[in-house]
Formats: sequence, C-alpha cells, structure tokens
Amino acid sequence: MRTVIKNARLLDSEADYGLNDLYLKDGLIEGYNLGGEVTEGDDAAGKTVTPAFIDLHTHLREPGQEVKEDLCSGLSAAAAGGFGTVISMANTNPTVDEPGLVADLIAKAKAVGQARLKPAAALSHGLKGELLTDFAALKTAGAVMITDDGIPVADSHLMRRACEYAAPLGLIIQTHSEEPSLRQNGVMNEGMVSQRLGLPGNPSSAEAIMIYRDCELALMTGARVHIAHISSRRGMQVVEWFKEQGAPVTAEVTPQHLTLTDEALAGFDPIFKVAPPLRTQEDVDYLRDALKRGVVDNIGTDHAPHTQAEKEQDLVAAPFGIANIELAFALLYTELVKTGELSLVDLLKLLQSGPARIMNWPTPKLKPGQVADLVVLELEQSYPVEAANFKSKAKFSPWDGQKLTGWPVATFIGGKQVFQRDS
Ligand SMILES: [Zn+2]
Repeated sequence: MRTVIKNARLLDSEADYGLNDLYLKDGLIEGYNLGGEVTEGDDAAGKTVTPAFIDLHTHLREPGQEVKEDLCSGLSAAAAGGFGTVISMANTNPTVDEPGLVADLIAKAKAVGQARLKPAAALSHGLKGELLTDFAALKTAGAVMITDDGIPVADSHLMRRACEYAAPLGLIIQTHSEEPSLRQNGVMNEGMVSQRLGLPGNPSSAEAIMIYRDCELALMTGARVHIAHISSRRGMQVVEWFKEQGAPVTAEVTPQHLTLTDEALAGFDPIFKVAPPLRTQEDVDYLRDALKRGVVDNIGTDHAPHTQAEKEQDLVAAPFGIANIELAFALLYTELVKTGELSLVDLLKLLQSGPARIMNWPTPKLKPGQVADLVVLELEQSYPVEAANFKSKAKFSPWDGQKLTGWPVATFIGGKQVFQRDS
C-alpha cells in the first residue's frame, strides 16, 4: 500500500521541513515529493503533519473494569487524541502482575488495530505492596515498565528491592509518589480552598517527601525511576535537586496539573478529583516554568476514565481521575502554545522525543524509513470540546463545551489511517 498526504506542513521535534507531499509505503515513511502511483491520497493543505504522540501514562481499565473503558474504546480514544503509542497502567482487575496477562493485552490490542499498546506491569502482586512481581518474566512477556501507579509503594524496603531488581533488566520504574500516612484520606489539595470547603486535604508535602525517597533510591541503586504526574512546586523542586546530582530520574507532568487549580473544586464537583490533587496557581505557574526550563521530560495524560455514575457520587466517595486523552493536545496547544508560553516544537518534544528518550525508544521523526505513525493537526481552527462524541467510554469532561485550538484531525498507525475527525 502506498499513500500520499499532500501539501502538508511537515514538522517534528527536530526540524521543520516546510510544505511537502509526504509518501508512505508499506507502513513506513517513504519520502517527500516522490510522485508516482498511490493507493490512497489526502490533501492536507493548511494542516501540520508530525509523528504521533507517545503517552507513558494511560489507564485503559482492561481487564476487569470494561464498564469504565476497554482496549477498543481506550486505544481508539488515544488515536483520536493523536497518540500512536500508549503505556497502559496495571491497576486493573485482576492486576497486570502475571506474564500471561501482559501477553494477553498485547495480543488483544493488536487485534483492535488502533494506537499501539505497550503494557506496564505491576511492581507488587495485586498492588498490595508486599511481594514483588517477576520483573524478568513480565519483561519477556512484553511489559515495558514496572509500576503500582494508582497506589503509592508505602514500604521503602520493597521499593529498594524493586529498584535493585529492575536496574540490571533495564526496566523503568514509574512511581506514584504520595506518602500514604501523610496523604491520609485527603480528597483535594490541603490549603486555603480545602479549609474553606471543609474537605479533607492532601498536602503537597506528601508528594515531596515520597519523591525524595524515590529519587534517593534511584541514586542509591542506579535504577531508572520515572516520577509520574508531579503536581506541586515542592515536588518538582525535589526532582530538580536530584537531577542536578545526576540521579537517574525523569519527570512527568499532566495536562490537568498544568491547567487547573484547586479552586475548580469550589463547586464540590468530583469531576475535578484527581490523585495527586489539583494544586494552587503558584504550583501551576511553577510547573509551567519547569516546562520552559527543560526540567520536565514528558507530558503524560494520566487518562483515567470512570463511569459517570461513579463520578457523580459526592466528593469523598467518588474515584480519582479525569478522562482527557482525546483533548490533551488541543488543551496544551491552546493554553501553552497559543498564549506564547511554550513553542510548538517544545510541546512536541514533551509528547514525542521526550517520552521516547525516557523509554530508550527511537526518536519519532519524519525521516524516510521511519515507522509511519503520524498525526495530522489542525492548528488554526477552534472547536468546542464535545465530550458526548468521545471514543472513550467516559463521555464527560472538565473542559466540555470549552473552545480549544489544535485538534488532531487524522491519525495514521503503521501507514494506515485509523482516525478521521468528522468535519
Ligand atoms: Zn498515579
């Protein structure tokens, strides 16, 4: 099969190739302006083509929680958001803690044929924080990351052993850094707003303390530790301090922690309940500044779908999480690039070369011979978020109805178009 995408502005995180006709053949990028017979063609005048994004932090809920999301809906949602590869978290039911479950996910995702799936496996059996899983066997089955994400690893000795086990295997450990005894039953950031609302708070110190422990263990053992969803100024400062000392740690932030504050919870709406919680404007400003200074390695969505019924409980009972993978790029483009805070290339780095570098994967580029995982972006027009039309099963959103600019309009995986936005 041979496809042409005509008149597109071609851009990746390393170069702007200008306006060209891009040819795809047998799943790969063939070259520019080649001419000749094609099977399929598309005119992309006025649009930008760039390598599909990589999300290191996606909750797809399969197996066991298909009422919230499944591989088909979740990987379709990812492709609609311009993501070509996602890492699924292991906090499912059963937990992804056995090689057979990893192999099963990979086989099922291939059959779905949307975004590519690279599963993470659990660090401890059943995410109980007691017994390490068999990292070597999980890696052989195809797991690319080890994490109990969703639940912090409370036992520091277990975390040490996990680091020592993962390091020689070259496996990355992703953390969920919240100190549980300090976090307690907090449902939102501890501060002026939680006091005003009379809700149990979760202090940013709970995050900073656990990030300190996780970075210290990375330094001690030489393991590659990825600090997920950093939400606070204090937490980010700890990571920066360890990076300066050469600790093998990397840092992730999410779209929600870059764009929302704890004031969003003033209406007691659990749609804004996430873990770690939305912080203050000061924290948001600091995280944005960290992006600009190049301290952050990737933006991960932490796409965490739930049923509407679950999210419509009261704030204390409702589960943590926001489904956002379909609008993540448009939100980031609107809030960070359109405002002039961040360049488009710097945003692409956080979604392409940044996550690839963390995982030791090849840098996504628009070079001949590279895998044709691509997204076509409409960077000029603004459209409102229509959560009811999400591919995700979670058809509601904190940003529903909000006009955003920079929507993915088509996604190609291995040269095959898997998503087309309806005009
Ligand atoms: Zn988490």
